[in-house]
Amino acid sequence: MRITPISAGMVYRTPAQRQEVNSKNVRNCTEIPSFYGLWGDKKPTLSDKFRYGLEALDDNSMLIVTSDDKVSNFMLNKALENIDIPIIKTYTLKVGEGDLINRNKLEANFGIFKKNNDYYVINLSEWIYRLEVRNPDESLNANRHFIKSGETKKLTQGEFIGTGELYSYIHDKHKFMFNPPYSYNPANAERYLEVKSAVSTAEGLQKFNRQTISALTAGEKRVTKRKEFTFQDIGGLGNVIENLRKSIIRPINYPMVYQNIRLNKGIMLYGPPRCGKTLLGKAIANEANAEFRYVNANEFKSSEVGGSEKSVRNIFQTAEDKAPYILFIDEFDAIGKKRDGSSNARFDDSVVNQFLGCMSDLEKSNAMAFVIAATNRLDLIDPALLASGRFGLHLEVPMPDLEGLKEIYDIHSKGQPIGNDVSRDELAQIMLDNKFNGSDVAEMVTLGYYNALERLGINEKMDNKTFMLSDLEKIKIAKEDFLQAISKLAKQKL
Ligand code: ADP
Repeated sequence: MRITPISAGMVYRTPAQRQEVNSKNVRNCTEIPSFYGLWGDKKPTLSDKFRYGLEALDDNSMLIVTSDDKVSNFMLNKALENIDIPIIKTYTLKVGEGDLINRNKLEANFGIFKKNNDYYVINLSEWIYRLEVRNPDESLNANRHFIKSGETKKLTQGEFIGTGELYSYIHDKHKFMFNPPYSYNPANAERYLEVKSAVSTAEGLQKFNRQTISALTAGEKRVTKRKEFTFQDIGGLGNVIENLRKSIIRPINYPMVYQNIRLNKGIMLYGPPRCGKTLLGKAIANEANAEFRYVNANEFKSSEVGGSEKSVRNIFQTAEDKAPYILFIDEFDAIGKKRDGSSNARFDDSVVNQFLGCMSDLEKSNAMAFVIAATNRLDLIDPALLASGRFGLHLEVPMPDLEGLKEIYDIHSKGQPIGNDVSRDELAQIMLDNKFNGSDVAEMVTLGYYNALERLGINEKMDNKTFMLSDLEKIKIAKEDFLQAISKLAKQKL
């Protein structure tokens, strides 16, 4: 069979280079002519584009060569944590049908990235495809030259990247010849390849790895600010949200309107566990673009004697200094209990006193700092703390009603593959009958998904390594999956 490999990257720039490569006896690599028109009407070939991509690589970018970018993106997201540099930009070279001689399409996707002046290749193909990377002089050694899905390997000059399947002979497979570029020049890649930047979209950011996130956020001080939750993520608590808008969000966003009015700086959220109190705290901080700090009241208890008061003072001081600020104190009853002479009473007294002092100082200051305390047991809280000027505003976060359950279900099932036989209204009624809280709804969706994986044999396929990306489309959470989940959760409640 005639060998017609692609020698992308191998556009010799000087006769000497050509000589050098030829002298290494690079077999089976023919140069593809890159000039289509004589007078500047140059249409880049695959080979050119590959080289442009290599030229554009800096220490934060990757060149992806793919025939199916859905697969390669999916694999890249899985593999990112193995790549120890931040990938902020990707250049995608799409290899479509007909781009390769004698072949319809590339068999394996791969990426190339640069680190400390070395280049690495990563296999971005589905599980079974291996990538062959070797120097043409070497004889094939499966252990050394085949790199598995998600694995990386350092590239050396003159190596080819064969995109064939495991165990098939290399000779009729496509090869990308790797030659390190001579200069850094992203202009051509920006023009001819698909460019994606992690910085440009929030969705892009989510796709990149931890190193990328920390590189992009380095220098940003407000690390405790939470981006994830907004009021859109909270179901069935419209009244509470409206109250929080009134007392916190608008004052933070429009302080000039509230200059001369006394604000309620302390807000007590109370109600049964797992119905959204903490979620509200995070969402408020986000809606008001304020810094957020979560503290569990039990943390104060672990401090040394006298340390508790000090940590209370410090926390309030920070809140004032860094305003706008939302200080969220969970399980407030752990320190805010009534002074009832229990064994911890003395300890509790001093911390409570410190709180009272700090709250009234905060009340007097102009700083837009708010303290939200949460408790499942309002009845245990010392009434002195619930007076106006302290935690004067009490908002109940109740168990969700039928409408609330529907809303919470909509939030947690969004983007999930829900089967056609599922009726949200019917599910909501069953959830209500089983006294579901917000967290149960979230859990039901997760468990329902697990049940679907089992029922559809996906678990088995994953265990046998026969799972293919196309199986993803088959996953649907059916009514029976949800019902099974509900009955499991209901049993746990008993
Ligand atoms: P609490 O602070 O009241 O104990 P959380 O706010 O920590 O409860 O809720 C736990 C989890 O349950 C949340 O992270 C969320 O996934 C889910 N959840 C609870 N209440 C709601 C709600 N009203 N809307 C949407 N999700 C909720």
